[in-house]
Amino acid sequence: MSSEDHQDIILIGAGAAGLAAAAALGKSGRSVLVLEARDRIGGRIWTHLEPPLAAPVELGAEFIHGDSPETSALLRQAGASTVDASGEHWSLIEGRLQRRTESLLGKVRAAFERAAVLSQPDVSLESFLCGEGGRGLPEEAREMARAFVSGFDAADPRLVSLHSVAEEWRSGGMLDSSQSRPLGGYRTALLALSAGLDGSRVRLQLHTVVSAVRWNDHSVEVEGRWLGQPFRAHARKAIVTVPLGVLKAAAGTPGAIRFTPPLAAKQAALAHLLSGPVLKVALHFRRPFWEERDSGRYADASFFHAPGKVFPTFWTALPVRAPLLNGWVGGPPAARLAELPDEQIIRHAMDCVSAILPAGDGVPELQAAYVHNWARDPYAQGAYSYVGVGGGNAREVLATPLSGTLFFAGEATDTTGEATTVTGALRSGARAALEVGRHLEDRR
Ligand SMILES: Cc1cc2nc3c(=O)[nH]c(=O)nc-3n(C[C@H](O)[C@H](O)[C@H](O)COP(=O)(O)OP(=O)(O)OC[C@H]3O[C@@H](n4cnc5c(N)ncnc54)[C@H](O)[C@@H]3O)c2cc1C
Repeated sequence: MSSEDHQDIILIGAGAAGLAAAAALGKSGRSVLVLEARDRIGGRIWTHLEPPLAAPVELGAEFIHGDSPETSALLRQAGASTVDASGEHWSLIEGRLQRRTESLLGKVRAAFERAAVLSQPDVSLESFLCGEGGRGLPEEAREMARAFVSGFDAADPRLVSLHSVAEEWRSGGMLDSSQSRPLGGYRTALLALSAGLDGSRVRLQLHTVVSAVRWNDHSVEVEGRWLGQPFRAHARKAIVTVPLGVLKAAAGTPGAIRFTPPLAAKQAALAHLLSGPVLKVALHFRRPFWEERDSGRYADASFFHAPGKVFPTFWTALPVRAPLLNGWVGGPPAARLAELPDEQIIRHAMDCVSAILPAGDGVPELQAAYVHNWARDPYAQGAYSYVGVGGGNAREVLATPLSGTLFFAGEATDTTGEATTVTGALRSGARAALEVGRHLEDRR
């Protein structure tokens, strides 16, 4: 490959959004060059298979929240299916594990509705909980709302838009949706995506860190380093799919991209969108020791909750039986933890396991532990996006093409209610491919 190159479209990033866009554009007969900084495709999807461990280790995305026709279609292509991940939830309450029966989040949702928050000016979740609207809510319900927004949305309750939370929790929305996993891991969906790329039209170039994009009304020039050497390519259009954290990164930092002219039309949207941190630790034990504890009481546990602990949530691989526990923490506590070296993060996770499932017969024996610090990963700079106060239309603005040459995809640009997820990323890639196709048609 030459270092000076020309094609219809340059795609920056080979995660779910980039691969979905590349597949659609290749099918419509366009020449596409996909530039990816890492030595692998998938971005924030990263599955490890560790035979003979029966369950995959997911360092990034793991669950399908609700229905995802896009993911299901990919899994079908790969001859795979999904498995239901709902099961027993056990919570550490007053030092004892108890079956969780009532979700206090319903009370918070009812308070949102009573206060008609969506027709009021936007504030942060924290302001709502501490203000008039939150009066009358039990302190436990407030705490659970904060914990949920940190843990699930990776958001800071003091910064997250109340409107965005209320939309997400609306009846029939995320709180009521099912959870499943791709059997064999998300890598199966990636394999289907990459198998769908038409090799005669789509070229995928790994090890290519893009550092500059120059654009005008007619064309785009991209510059960076390919295997450490200077690299440049030209195209009529470009689709930028790098994560929000990378788009917001200060010029000159690893992974950051300098746009010329700068993305002035996106600055307000970028300021209203935040990249939330998550730390996920996969602990591979010699035996699924929790299944044997207390005469098998937790044998069908899917989730363990330990409010206030460093890792407040753990889950098992059920319905697959495997000696694997995943620890999870998101939001501000994850940001603090992300400053530590991996060994200390793993030790914190192990301490939490010992507190949740105290062992009379000693600390359970660990075979392996896996952690990836997405907040410190220069090509992710966070786990996924959330909307800050007043950022109602920020995702739409971020998704809007510039000058018919520069297009935007990635989970943060999804406007179908699936932002933050793999489904949102896939949809945004398909949407950007359609937009580019339309512009290329118009200019024939
Ligand atoms: C720990 C964790 C758990 C998650 N759990 C779930 C879950 O259970 N379910 C779910 O649906 N979603 C989950 N997500 C979110 C999901 O992984 C993402 O929404 C989705 O994968 C994003 O896809 P994307 O294509 O938008 O971005 P990415 O996958 O990040 O793709 C962007 C690509 O751009 C590349 N790139 C970055 N900078 C440059 C550069 N300068 N030059 C060239 N290339 C560059 C990156 O390497 C990357 O490959 C999770 C995420 C994390 C981190």
